[in-house]
Amino acid sequence: MTSLHDRHINPLILKDLNGDNWHLEDYVKRGGYSALRRILEGGVTQEQVIADLKASGLRGRGGAGFPTGLKWSFMPRQFPGQKYLVCNTDEGEPGTFKDRDIIRYNPHALIEGMAIGAYAMGITVGYNYIHGEIFQEYLRFEEALEEARAAGFLGDNIMGSNFSFQLHAHHGYGAYICGEETALLESLEGKKGQPRFKPPFPASFGLYGKPTTINNTETFAAVPFLLNMGPENYMALGKPNNGGTKIFSISGDVERPGNYEVPLGTPFAKLMELAGGMRGGKKIKAVIPGGSSAPVIRGEVMMDTDLDYDSIAKAGSMLGSGAVIVMDETRCMVKSLLRLSYFYYEESCGQCTPCREGTGWMYRMVHRIEHGKGRPEDMDLLNNIAFNIKGRTICALGDAAAMPVEAMIKNFREEFEYHIEHKHCLVPAYL
Ligand code: SF4
Repeated sequence: MTSLHDRHINPLILKDLNGDNWHLEDYVKRGGYSALRRILEGGVTQEQVIADLKASGLRGRGGAGFPTGLKWSFMPRQFPGQKYLVCNTDEGEPGTFKDRDIIRYNPHALIEGMAIGAYAMGITVGYNYIHGEIFQEYLRFEEALEEARAAGFLGDNIMGSNFSFQLHAHHGYGAYICGEETALLESLEGKKGQPRFKPPFPASFGLYGKPTTINNTETFAAVPFLLNMGPENYMALGKPNNGGTKIFSISGDVERPGNYEVPLGTPFAKLMELAGGMRGGKKIKAVIPGGSSAPVIRGEVMMDTDLDYDSIAKAGSMLGSGAVIVMDETRCMVKSLLRLSYFYYEESCGQCTPCREGTGWMYRMVHRIEHGKGRPEDMDLLNNIAFNIKGRTICALGDAAAMPVEAMIKNFREEFEYHIEHKHCLVPAYL
């Protein structure tokens, strides 16, 4: 799946890309590196850049949706020792595939965004941690780094200024948990990728114990565009508290799966239209709107929901990373949950008991329901296990494993009960 189509609405990051025009020369022709140039040559202060970020309403595109300008303001700029900037391109959650397209088709947007971030926070060294299973994209990013260094957009005294920034790519190891920011830092330090206890947070104790700011690929890539168009105009693209555009990775039972960049607040029905509607004209049954950890929503509810942080939260789920998984009327929810449960069971790092034991326990229970061996009391027990994992673990993987279980049972309870009573699926396609 690629983003190489023009079915976007007001795109910024994915605009005018054809697969070949990723080089520095092409990016500069599209206006690239002009935001960085304006900052360095125009004497724009660090405070002004951070103020613009705040005014733009940009929120973290990796899942949490934390305001980016506020996060950048947490960096102790006057800290005398080394500070680090880290980009999280470790996308490994089922349904997510946007960040790999950004570094494949527009890598210089990310490099420029990181350089601006480094300037704003007084940082001289950065890393982009790239998911271990996307090797071609890692090579592409290395090539783009070489181009930027050769042109003087990275390295010492960028564009003749007194700002220096060394940026490196790091190819990860393919574990989902390394997308959790503190596990990523451990992995970057060469250790086993396991989440750290928080606090302390990375802003004060990050990479090698130094102050570190971590943002998602799409977040950094949006920065040059929002500065070029002006923070107010960027904010106005979306809606209040949901500024700008967002890349949605739509997959599942649609005619044209792929990455679509649209303003936040676009109706989900419009995204479905861009993606060609339901495959084979079938009826929509369920949607997971924000990556596999986001609670599933019934299709008819989602069709009336806008794609922004607040509207999706109101509908009972999360915008997350913008990975939209669409399921049609032939999909069995028990089987879907079985696959999701197996993923989290497999990817638990095993550090804390509720997650290590609970994910396996939930998987085995869903497995027996799917295979006709479920018991009526399993429904309550599943809910109980999920409830007792949530909020009792070191990192969010525990919650991510529990939320799909709760939401599937809440929204599609009748399918689970039918499986338990009749020992087979309610959905005709599976009979
Ligand atoms: Fe590891 Fe799971 Fe605990 Fe996260 S919640 S630290 S993945 S065991």
